[in-house]
Amino acid sequence: MSQEGEQEQSDRKKYEFRKVIEDLKDYDGSGTQLVTIYIPDDRQISDVVQHVTQEHSEAANIKSKQTRTAVQDALTSIKDRLRYYDTYPPDNGIVLFSGAVDSGGGRTDMVTKVLESPPQPIESFRYHCDSDFLTEPLEEMLADKGLYGLIVLDRREANVGWLKGKRIEPVKSASSLVPGKQRKGGQSAQRFARLRLEAIDNFYQEVAGMANDLFVPRRHELDGILVGGPSPTKDEFLDGDYLHHEIQDNVIGKFDVAYTDESGLKDLVDNAEDALADAEVMKDKKVMEEFFEELNAGELATYGFEQTRRNLMMGSVDRLLISEDLRKDVITYECPECGTTEREVIDRRKSTPTHTCTECGTDVEGSDEDREDAIDHLIEIAEQRGTETKFISTDFEKGEQLLNAFGGFAGLLRYSTGV
Ligand SMILES: [Zn+2]
Repeated sequence: MSQEGEQEQSDRKKYEFRKVIEDLKDYDGSGTQLVTIYIPDDRQISDVVQHVTQEHSEAANIKSKQTRTAVQDALTSIKDRLRYYDTYPPDNGIVLFSGAVDSGGGRTDMVTKVLESPPQPIESFRYHCDSDFLTEPLEEMLADKGLYGLIVLDRREANVGWLKGKRIEPVKSASSLVPGKQRKGGQSAQRFARLRLEAIDNFYQEVAGMANDLFVPRRHELDGILVGGPSPTKDEFLDGDYLHHEIQDNVIGKFDVAYTDESGLKDLVDNAEDALADAEVMKDKKVMEEFFEELNAGELATYGFEQTRRNLMMGSVDRLLISEDLRKDVITYECPECGTTEREVIDRRKSTPTHTCTECGTDVEGSDEDREDAIDHLIEIAEQRGTETKFISTDFEKGEQLLNAFGGFAGLLRYSTGV
């Protein structure tokens, strides 16, 4: 799959995950009876089953009969789900949620959800039993965007690594042979200064080589490079054009850091917080700028569910833009009198309304079978037509406008369709 294809898959997956998480967060368990399990992909399923069995027998000690039964039911349900897997979980692991949730009026419902292959690997096994489902680790993964290259250096040592979402991955380090400022007796001051400058230059070259080896092969995926160190080292390093030009062009900021060992990488990311937040929405900003330009002066913009859908059907949409915060369903109505098909987009939490046919005025009852997630509906068409889908954040003005003024759906067209 192409990199863009993969990105799209993961955006769609993130959307599916986000929906499930929102539902889960709405649930309350009474007492301690909602069970969440995070399983990394290198953990044997049989180990997990054993753990769950153990918890099940320990739950026998819970005093309240209601809670005891609820926890044991949740664990049984989880064990049932685990049967579907072979030796190991799928890539990146799985998360299971199960428990008796408050469904109003003093009644409870059993809910079990399984999320496979989250966008990032689950790093450690977690068993959690509480009045809420544990959704935070997943939420953090979903919030994570971006791939950044990290370089920290002074004249003595350097470290390079990755920032993948919120995870820092140190990769390589180097230390220099640059002599201190004090020359030894017998050396001429000039000769010493020259040797020292040479050694510094060599070290910068070595660091740049290390960074280039790591970053150049992935330069098209990179969202930016951060450079940290004391002044003037980092400035000397950047001004000296040691880095590959495509990497150099991608430097989004330089920052003071106190250390240049592995902990310096963390220091760097902490200090670059604002630059990172900007870089994250930068791509979304660019595409929304393009949309507004087309809207004002061009012919290649469309918006609103129905218009966007029609353009998608024609295959004329290059990029489908969807607001990240949009939560809508679409209901398809077919008029029994005149056969006209029409759609209504409604809030996810609203019940299915009756639709009045715009052709003949007949009232058409909506059915839940003809109701689906509006985003899924459009993405499915987009995938068939080779249209790229982009989820747009609402953390900036034009992103907010997409949601509030344009119904959350828009498209940039390949050619003008007049629709
Ligand atoms: Zn009709």
